[in-house]
Amino acid sequence: MSPKACKACNVRQAVEGFEPYAPGRSIDEIRQLYGLENIIKMASNENPLGASPLVKKAIEHSAGSVFRYTQSGTPRLSQAIATLHGVDPACIVTGNGSDEVIDLLIRCKAEPGRHNVVAFDPCFSLYTTQSRLCGVELRQAKLNSDFTFNWDALLSLTDENTALVFVTTPDNPSGYCPPAAELSALAQKLPEGALLVIDEAYMDFAAAHNGQDNVNLARYSLLPEITKYNNIAILRTFSKSWGLAGLRLGYGIMPAALADYLCRVRPPFSVNILAEAAGLAALEDRDFRRATLLTVEEGRNYLSLELAKMGCKVYPSHSNFIMFGLPKNSPLSPDELFNALLKRGIIIRQLKSYKLSQLLRISVGNMDENKMLLAAMRELLHA
Ligand SMILES: *Cc1c(COP(=O)(O)O)cnc(C)c1O
Repeated sequence: MSPKACKACNVRQAVEGFEPYAPGRSIDEIRQLYGLENIIKMASNENPLGASPLVKKAIEHSAGSVFRYTQSGTPRLSQAIATLHGVDPACIVTGNGSDEVIDLLIRCKAEPGRHNVVAFDPCFSLYTTQSRLCGVELRQAKLNSDFTFNWDALLSLTDENTALVFVTTPDNPSGYCPPAAELSALAQKLPEGALLVIDEAYMDFAAAHNGQDNVNLARYSLLPEITKYNNIAILRTFSKSWGLAGLRLGYGIMPAALADYLCRVRPPFSVNILAEAAGLAALEDRDFRRATLLTVEEGRNYLSLELAKMGCKVYPSHSNFIMFGLPKNSPLSPDELFNALLKRGIIIRQLKSYKLSQLLRISVGNMDENKMLLAAMRELLHA
C-alpha cells in the first residue's frame, strides 16, 4: 500500500509541504562518511570552549534526580535570568531552546487565516517554518544588498493584522548588528497590535569587549530599557555563548501579561531537569564566561583579518561567526570548498537554506581550530 492510500495518515496541508530545518552537518555523520578520527566543527555557532566545568558538575549532581519531573515553570531559573537582566521574573518565559519560545509566540499571537508575520529575507528559518506550520501568512522584506536592514521595506509590510515582526540582531548569517536606536524607532512606528520580537541569540558577542560582558549592550540592544516598551519581546538562548546547545534552553523577556499566556500554553516540563540545573550553573561561572567572550572576540578578529588577506570578501561580524565570499579568482566554488574541507574533517556552513549559495559561514573556533581551518583554506585556494 502506498503512503498516499493510507487515509489515516493524512495530515494538514501545511504539514504535507513542510520543509524541515536544515541543520549543519554533524560530527558523527562526517566521521562515518569519510572514516576520519578528528573532526573540527565550525558550522553551528556553538561555544568554542565547550561547556563550563561547573555545568558538568551540576549535571552529574542532578543525574540521580532524572526520574523526577522538574519543578513546573522553572521558577529558580527564571529568577536567576531575571536577576541577570534586572527585570521582573514574571517577564521571563523559558523554553526548550529559544526555538520553542518562537513557536509559542507565533501560536499564541497569530490567528491562522487572519494575522500575518513579518520578517526580513533571508532570515532564521524558524520564523518562516513555524509561521507556515501555524497557517499564518508570512511577509518578508528583502535585506539591503550589503545585509544591512531596510526598515522602511519591513515597516511597509505591516498592517493592522500584523501579529509579530521578527528581527535578528546581530543577524544570522551576516553578523550585522544595527544600532539600538533603529530598533527603538521601529518599535514606535509599528501598528498597535504588532509585537516586535528581537532575537538576540548572539547579542552577548556584540555587547562584549575584552572579555567583559555587556560593555556595548546599550549601543545595540533595547534590553536595558525594555520596561519602557509594551510591544517588545527579546529572545535569548543558552545555546551559543553559554555553551548548552545540546541541552536545549532558551528564553524570552516580554511584557508580563504576554509571558503569562505563553507559560500557560507551554507544554509542561519542556525545560528538563538537567537543562535547568545546567543553566543555573552556567550563570555562576564568571571565569568561563570571560574566557568564552575573549576567545570569540580574538578568534573573530583573527579569522576576519586572515580571510581578507586571502582575498575573501568578509562581512564585518558582531557575532561568533563570519560570513564570507570567496576571492574572485578562487579555483574552487563555495560548494567545492565546502566539500573539500569536509573531506579533511572540517565542517563549515553552506548558506543554501538562506538562498545565499555564493557565500559561506564559519563559526569562530578555538585558536587551534581557527588555524587549522585557515591552513586548509590557504592550501585549497592556493592563497
Ligand atoms: C541559534 C539561534 C537561535 C537559538 O536557538 P535555540 O533553540 O535556543 O538553540 C535562535 N535564533 C537564531 C537566529 C539562532 O541562530
